[in-house]
Amino acid sequence: MPRPINILFVSSEARPLIKTGGLADVSSSLPAALRDLGLDCRLLLPGYPSVLERCIALTPVANIAAPADTPVQLLLGQMPDTHVPVYVLDAPHAFQRPGGPYQDASGTEHPDNAERFALLSRIAAQLCDPHSALAKQTHWHPDCLHCNDWQTGLAPAYLHYAGRPIPSLTTIHNLAFQGVYDPDILPRLGLPAESFAIHGLEYYGSIAFLKAGLFYSDWITTVSPTYALEIQAEPLGMGMQGLLQQRSHQLTGILNGINTADWNPSSDLHLAHNYTYRGMAGKRRSKTALQTELGLNKDAAAPLFGIVSRLTHQKGLDWVVQAVDGILAQGGQLAILGTGEPELEVRFKQLAQQHPHSVAAFIGYDEGRSHRIEAGADIFLMPSRFEPCGLNQMYSQRYGTLPLVRTTGGLADSVTDGKDGFSFAGDTAHALWLTIERALAIYHDPKAWRRMQQTAMRKDMSWEHSAREYVALYTQLIAATHSS
Ligand code: ADP
Repeated sequence: MPRPINILFVSSEARPLIKTGGLADVSSSLPAALRDLGLDCRLLLPGYPSVLERCIALTPVANIAAPADTPVQLLLGQMPDTHVPVYVLDAPHAFQRPGGPYQDASGTEHPDNAERFALLSRIAAQLCDPHSALAKQTHWHPDCLHCNDWQTGLAPAYLHYAGRPIPSLTTIHNLAFQGVYDPDILPRLGLPAESFAIHGLEYYGSIAFLKAGLFYSDWITTVSPTYALEIQAEPLGMGMQGLLQQRSHQLTGILNGINTADWNPSSDLHLAHNYTYRGMAGKRRSKTALQTELGLNKDAAAPLFGIVSRLTHQKGLDWVVQAVDGILAQGGQLAILGTGEPELEVRFKQLAQQHPHSVAAFIGYDEGRSHRIEAGADIFLMPSRFEPCGLNQMYSQRYGTLPLVRTTGGLADSVTDGKDGFSFAGDTAHALWLTIERALAIYHDPKAWRRMQQTAMRKDMSWEHSAREYVALYTQLIAATHSS
């Protein structure tokens, strides 16, 4: 039997070890789905404290040449839930510190992010180069390197200068984050001076880690077909549209799946009442339970709008703020969970203080509450200005909470207006409001509402389909490398 295809999947976050956004969900679900299809996919992650703490059966597999006062080791362990093998880059000087993966506790970027993620990228490339001292210690040889976002953008550049031993693929999860740094850092990255060029990692006079990924990798994917088109033009190309247009024949949009085990209303442990599309009593009880938990009026008929999101301009929540009076005038309620820009946090907190029985705002990150909002709400609001894929609209569909979205990126690819959710194309608070009114009209027609809920809940949003598309791509890239 031929050996399975080996994929090294490098990412800066993967749940449940470390998570700041959707990237962490993809980085845990996709490798597991690839393994289910028979591939040997392994993760490479930075050794943040939570990763070292939560990864199971960690054992050292290689020492990495580094100055004596900065010991760096490669460990191999497993994901606690799926048992996917994980290489952990244990570099205490870079990754063992308080705060988040990219920022300290006060929200300031770590000053050495360029060096930290260059190190992660460099180790990824070394693992893929059979001639490197590191690969000689690990006895496992990837056939393809899968990079994710700017944090791993330099890996294809290092691989290029190592002679491109294997193909690489870069997935864009959000083009807004590009890892842009002063060109002065180039000598510290260990890349040749010639790499600082238009045909390289130069980006309007700076260095962009993501640009390196997009330029040097053999293929580019992004997380929805619509976003793959949107990023080839202004404004969503965010400065990279020229390069993406040039590479459009090597750019594919593959819609993310969701983790259907974690997000399953019939078995969700965060809920006191479970349900399926066949019997929705549990959903009605989940709504009452949520209203109780949040201190909202226990009114079964009030349309309850939910939001779980980073509170940023990207997510279009300023339009929601403008719609709140209208929602309340229609007898509606609003439950918000999120963190982000201080102005939005303050605004939502004020609204909750002004209307304590109709608006609840929780500023913070709370996985359990996010599940309870998905289950208890009637309508999930996600009017993003742009959304590469988005996960919450799909979680909502699975929980029979109809998503109301703006038609952009993955929202356009996963929500069909009037069938399994509601969508609008404009970019004003008024456009959002007209769609809220449309949704409310259907909400008051229980038969029509139930039909839409059932359609949404029965959709197949599992990872298997998307994982097969990645397998086809890896196979094609590996075959092309062998024939060249
Ligand atoms: P993005 O990656 O742009 O933040 P996505 O919709 O792709 O948006 O993914 C966001 C993920 O983070 C989802 O799993 C969502 O449930 C979760 N999430 C965001 N904010 C919170 C929060 N405050 N509490 C719990 N989960 C959150």
